[in-house]
Amino acid sequence: MRKALAWFLFVLLALPAASSSEERPLVIKAVRYFSYPTFTRVVFETEAAAPYVLVASEDGQILTFSAYEGPLVLRAKLPPINDGVVKSMQLKEIAGRFSIEVSLGLAAGAAKDFVLTNPDRMVIDITRGSADQPPTAQPAESQAVIVIDPGHGGRNTGMVTGRGKEKSATLMLARLLRRKIKAQLPDMKVLFTREKGKSPSLTTRAAFSNSRQAAIFLSLHSSPGNDVRVYILALGADTVSRRSPPRRDFLGFEAESEQKKMLWGTQQAAHAQASSSLGWKLMAQLTGKKNRGPMQAPLVVLKPVDASAVMIEVGMKRNRTQVANAVVKGIAEYVRENR
Ligand SMILES: [Zn+2]
Repeated sequence: MRKALAWFLFVLLALPAASSSEERPLVIKAVRYFSYPTFTRVVFETEAAAPYVLVASEDGQILTFSAYEGPLVLRAKLPPINDGVVKSMQLKEIAGRFSIEVSLGLAAGAAKDFVLTNPDRMVIDITRGSADQPPTAQPAESQAVIVIDPGHGGRNTGMVTGRGKEKSATLMLARLLRRKIKAQLPDMKVLFTREKGKSPSLTTRAAFSNSRQAAIFLSLHSSPGNDVRVYILALGADTVSRRSPPRRDFLGFEAESEQKKMLWGTQQAAHAQASSSLGWKLMAQLTGKKNRGPMQAPLVVLKPVDASAVMIEVGMKRNRTQVANAVVKGIAEYVRENR
């Protein structure tokens, strides 16, 4: 219940015994958010622990986050967020004092806040849906979302061969796929995890897909030769990655504390069967053989993805148009069966 959120929730953090009378600023150096199926988490990472206040507006639609005593200093960008639970975050100034307003969406339920240390963070969790705000209040999305993740980008070039850089190859294939899907599958909306020159972290790519409630997630990578392979997440991938040394895109967990939390990184397990089904259809179209399934690998980018998810690794020498045609056929077949 949103009403249960106290008017003035504040937490005083380990104030040193000999606290100076000087006002201590609350310096925010990073703001992140994570869209999980059942809740959205907003994380403010601070330079040092400092008391804060979280106030809910009377109608419960806005949470205002401010420093308890000193000024609030924002040294990070507020990420664009609009996942149904949180509509937006904005920096507000009233009489020279700054605060951050978190506007809640129709799908927002109860909110709770807490503190994590090492590094110091303030966390707000807002549940998705509640008795007085049923999730059906959300406008229905008529188009199914397919998120295409062009691997690497920006300074992260990926593999470099005589035929060019992996980051460019994945983006070109992504654009080709977008054009063909638009033309052949008008029921689907294509979104990219990155544009030219950008290299979001693997966590951000997955979080983007989850925030758009994607039905399908396609991660694109390259290999040097002429092969094309489809990978799905191997269950128990952590064990695999410890035994075999990480290779190319099969990296271990990024050292980001939120990602190691119980929920983050387990989403893909619920889609194992659907991802496998998608993988088989793509392999059949790409290889022309019905008896070759997708390979399983510890793919860190897929672990937190809350959708049918595969990684396609395309040889740099392969004809890109043929690959794109086969992938679109595989997707069309998968969508037909799962409508
Ligand atoms: Zn790659």
